[in-house]
Amino acid sequence: MRAWSVVRPGPVEEGGLRLVEKPVPVPGDDELLVQVRACGVCRTDLHVTEGDLPPHRAGVTPGHEVVGVVAGSGTEAAAAGFATGDRVGVAWLRRTDGTCAYCSRGAENLCPSSRYTGWDADGGYAEYTTVPAAFAYHLPEAVDDVALAPLLCAGIIGYRALRRAALPPGGRLALYGFGGSAHLCAQVALAEGATVHVLTRGAAARRLALGLGAVSAQDPYAVPPEPLDSAILFAPVGDLVPVALRALDRGGTLSIAGIHLSDIPPLRYESDLFYEKQIRSVTSNTREDGREFLALAARHGVHATTHTYPLTRADEALQDLGAGRFDGAAVLVNDL
Ligand SMILES: [Zn+2]
Ligand SMILES: [Zn+2]
Repeated sequence: MRAWSVVRPGPVEEGGLRLVEKPVPVPGDDELLVQVRACGVCRTDLHVTEGDLPPHRAGVTPGHEVVGVVAGSGTEAAAAGFATGDRVGVAWLRRTDGTCAYCSRGAENLCPSSRYTGWDADGGYAEYTTVPAAFAYHLPEAVDDVALAPLLCAGIIGYRALRRAALPPGGRLALYGFGGSAHLCAQVALAEGATVHVLTRGAAARRLALGLGAVSAQDPYAVPPEPLDSAILFAPVGDLVPVALRALDRGGTLSIAGIHLSDIPPLRYESDLFYEKQIRSVTSNTREDGREFLALAARHGVHATTHTYPLTRADEALQDLGAGRFDGAAVLVNDL
């Protein structure tokens, strides 16, 4: 099969991500073989490709927002309720040990033995991939492959970031950065009755935000029109941490959604943290987050604004993501 491979981590323009021939993967005993139909392009794929995240597997195939069809399964995979031909979703969290203290208390996103799709194992920038059946998602019907793909990471992580932001019912929420994850998170927050303010650079992203129902859309360093109960930092920009903290009302919470963030400048206790403001990071997600979000997304009609690329142009999609050349989310469609 044809698959993209991170041959040499580095700037994507330098060609270290190549389209190569790989054998069709053989699913492990507890895994499904998945024929990829569509795969979302996540900023984490760019971090894997460019080496911001340390390589975990030489020549890895990125991609962890996979919508595909079950094409085979290992001997023990049947118990998870998937049959050949079923549509299936593959996401970032690939495997946990299921036995550690974190897994035992429902925090499998913190499992020290966790493994990730498209980092520890080959992902969806390919004709086929595999997934442990217990970590595969059943997908809502009546939503097409392209529209579903970004929900599988951007959507799930945005949902966890929203829950970590501890937004009270009817509360005031700011989103810093407005890409794939934020525009899905905004839709959940709005459906649940929040007032949403968006702070982001791009004029097109600000228009998208207002079109979805945000009440204001400004430059990231602007002061929001009202104090905030909660803020979520989606932009991987540490400079925005004190900016967002100062925009919080007393008792407010800032949730940092990214897996990678540039350095945070010194904080000033009085203006940035006192009055019981809180900062929380977001680390991956649990399968429960994924199931909750996919159900909410189906109920509220949460939809991704997508830009499709043929799978053979994954490198171009990543370059466009890095340069901020589109709004919403890019999705690779299998043309192989
Ligand atoms: Zn564990
Ligand atoms: Zn992702």
